[in-house]
Amino acid sequence: MIGIYVHVPFCLRKCPYCSFYSVPFSAENSDAYVEAVCRNMERYRDVGAEADTLYFGGGTPSVLAAEQIWRIVKTCREVFGLKNAEITLEANPCTVDEEKLIGYRQAGVNRLSFGIQSADDEKLRFLGRLHDRDTAVKAVELAAKVGFTNISGDLMLGSVGEDSESIKRSVDALCALPLNHISAYMLKIEEGTAFDCDEVRNKVADDDKMCDLYLTAAEELEAHGFMQYEISNFAKEGFQSRHNNKYWECEEYLGFGPSAHSFYGGKRYCCPSDVKRFIESEIQPEIITEESVDSGEEYILLGLRLSKGISLDRVTQLYSPEAAESLLKRAKLFESHGLAEVGEDRVKLTRKGYLVSNGIIAELIDAVNS
Ligand code: SF4
Repeated sequence: MIGIYVHVPFCLRKCPYCSFYSVPFSAENSDAYVEAVCRNMERYRDVGAEADTLYFGGGTPSVLAAEQIWRIVKTCREVFGLKNAEITLEANPCTVDEEKLIGYRQAGVNRLSFGIQSADDEKLRFLGRLHDRDTAVKAVELAAKVGFTNISGDLMLGSVGEDSESIKRSVDALCALPLNHISAYMLKIEEGTAFDCDEVRNKVADDDKMCDLYLTAAEELEAHGFMQYEISNFAKEGFQSRHNNKYWECEEYLGFGPSAHSFYGGKRYCCPSDVKRFIESEIQPEIITEESVDSGEEYILLGLRLSKGISLDRVTQLYSPEAAESLLKRAKLFESHGLAEVGEDRVKLTRKGYLVSNGIIAELIDAVNS
């Protein structure tokens, strides 16, 4: 079963730290966009691909009306089946009300992911968010009231003046809400964003502080019963994101909309970040980013993001017994520094290892290739 990702490229306002592709929302554009998404899904009608997850990401999918979401879900169901599917919609707390949330449920959405980011109004203002703490609390409570039982919240670590105490307060506030999944991201100053200047860089957490905040947040989340299953993701039992797990488990997915990525038929490709072009093209333009995906490298690269790590048996299958042995030897070196754990058949990173995961993963890939 594949996953379907729909990138909704509209936002009410650009947040100064955000590098995701989005343009200002307009009702007229959004109708043409919905038509284009459905038109592109229709192309797969005779392909026979079955999906069991649908994820509306963005941008701000919750700027779309319930009828528009309904139209896309309906088309997706007709083309890809969506039997017992997880259907997630990312929502900005200030864009939903009771009627809209009921409409989303009726459209088939059964999982919401709220961009809460912080429970501290000063930090929310700094991040340029349109909502405050009360609005976020009300949105999540309203979602639970109308019947959503699978709700996630995003938390941003390292904002202005953030310290262990403030991060604990935010975690505690989120954990007091009817959430069963929390994603904790480290604020990163991305090139070309409004935050890309020294003035902001000097205000946000530096690398050392960010490490402390990450470790504090992870411990606090686990103390509340949210178990870590990926570098940035924590869930109560049974509430891991089925869709995002597909990415990390190297499963196939199709992306629709400008800037959406796909991994299908052994290739990786993406649709250019241009909503006008997406709407005007009969078939969404696609740029191949990887003609032939190296499944061994992908397995190590993505699998080590997960708490369960990678299997040495699988590395043997994908490479050779010698390569698995070489990886094991290198992993034991990281284990001696508290950055990895080596079990009978598995290698996984520790939380400290996650903080330097890029370097470790590059070394382990080097080990299997040498
Ligand atoms: S963070 Fe979310 S709401 Fe803000 S600009 Fe980026 S996609 Fe839009």
